[in-house]
Amino acid sequence: MELVSKEKCSGCMACVEKCPAKCISMVEDHMGNYYPQIEEANCLHCGVCQRVCPELTILSAMRPFDAYAAWSLDDLDRKTSASGGAASVFYRHALDMGYWIAGVKYTKKFHVVHSLSNQMEIVDDFKQSKYVYSESADIYQKVKERLTAGQKVLFISLPCKIAGLLGYFGKKPDNLVTVDLVCHGTPPYRHLMEHIDCVKGKHVPAFLKFRRDNEYVFQLFDENNAMIYSKLGRMDSYLAAFLEGINYRESCYHCSYAKPERISDITVCDFWGLGQETPFDHPYSGAISAVLINTEQGESFFQGCQKYLFTEQRPVDEAIRGNAQLNSPTLYPSCRAEFEKLYQKQGFDAAVISCLGAVMKQEEKKVRKQQMRDALRTTVGIFIKRYRR
Ligand SMILES: Cc1cc2nc3c(=O)[nH]c(=O)nc-3n(C[C@H](O)[C@H](O)[C@H](O)COP(=O)(O)OP(=O)(O)OC[C@H]3O[C@@H](n4cnc5c(N)ncnc54)[C@H](O)[C@@H]3O)c2cc1C
Ligand code: SF4
Ligand code: SF4
Ligand code: SF4
Repeated sequence: MELVSKEKCSGCMACVEKCPAKCISMVEDHMGNYYPQIEEANCLHCGVCQRVCPELTILSAMRPFDAYAAWSLDDLDRKTSASGGAASVFYRHALDMGYWIAGVKYTKKFHVVHSLSNQMEIVDDFKQSKYVYSESADIYQKVKERLTAGQKVLFISLPCKIAGLLGYFGKKPDNLVTVDLVCHGTPPYRHLMEHIDCVKGKHVPAFLKFRRDNEYVFQLFDENNAMIYSKLGRMDSYLAAFLEGINYRESCYHCSYAKPERISDITVCDFWGLGQETPFDHPYSGAISAVLINTEQGESFFQGCQKYLFTEQRPVDEAIRGNAQLNSPTLYPSCRAEFEKLYQKQGFDAAVISCLGAVMKQEEKKVRKQQMRDALRTTVGIFIKRYRR
């Protein structure tokens, strides 16, 4: 029995969960990515794994018919989310309406794992982008149990995981609402752990953060919330590799979901092209989410969230044009082959520094310059009102 090629396999694990003989396991390759492998001796040749695979049985996709600039009206939501906090508002509305909610949270040793709950407390765990491969665990089965019991479920995840869920079901159940995040790729878990081991020193990290306000940041804290390590953007080697896209899973460079047509009811992302089609003039400087409405069910769910959100309707093309991964997958970087070779010899951090040392130095210069400008502005601001922030 043949599964989809390595270039296309997103690791959604729908085949693993659905196989009636439980004879598919995930096996790690030389880069730390996991791929399904069939134990032929136990295979029933039933073809279920091929039928559920969203890369073999292509899902229908819809062009968004509405777009909104949005942010949560709750200050804490925005502070603790990666972008405008739209995802946390969707969760809150879903819980108000009696839904179960699915997302990802960190478990032991920073594994990022899908989870399902009907409790408000879990929203804090789901918040924030985790820039690493997320494990499905047995989430599709758990969602199925709720749906077949007549309950409603809101499922927010990366497009390939939503695809796995839809492939698992075959036909989308009416009591399921799906929200996908625009995505430019995920590095393997192994790279994250190698990096943490490299920067943590003698400390035991308990919390990890990738975004602060509008910025990318790699921050580790211990269990008392004391900071162990903090670096901005490409100054950090994990974020340099992630933002330059040199260590994604193969399928991310051929991603079936990096296009304007969406497979979910709603799509959320950063609103990068905001104001380019028509002026957007609001006294607000925080991160702003773009919310794309792709189905009637998505529209109705989104309207229910209005009391928790600032929203302004925007041209759909503005949201799509401004966001590269709503148009095409991340380009295969020229240094990828070199990175793979070096990674196997030197390990993660040394390989990134060999490939992206110049980029990291340039970022450091840029950040230092900005910090000096900010310090100067603060000093001048003590004496001259118009420089105060
Ligand atoms: C790997 C990755 C790549 C991304 N790439 C882009 C991009 O190229 N362009 C863009 O505009 N936006 C991208 N995003 C989305 C963006 O970072 C925000 O998550 C999104 O705009 C929603 O922001 P928010 O403030 O509403 O909620 P947030 O607090 O950011 O989002 C929380 C939601 O994201 C889910 N989530 C977080 N990490 C993962 C993960 N690893 N796997 C599955 N689900 C996850 C949580 O379960 C929760 O539902 C990416 C996100 C991730 C995780
Ligand atoms: S053909 Fe059936 S039994 Fe064999 S691996 Fe696929 S799903 Fe499992
Ligand atoms: S179902 Fe998912 S994990 Fe399985 S082969 Fe297809 S893409 Fe890969
Ligand atoms: S780029 Fe595509 S395949 Fe890769 S993690 Fe994102 S949605 Fe999945």
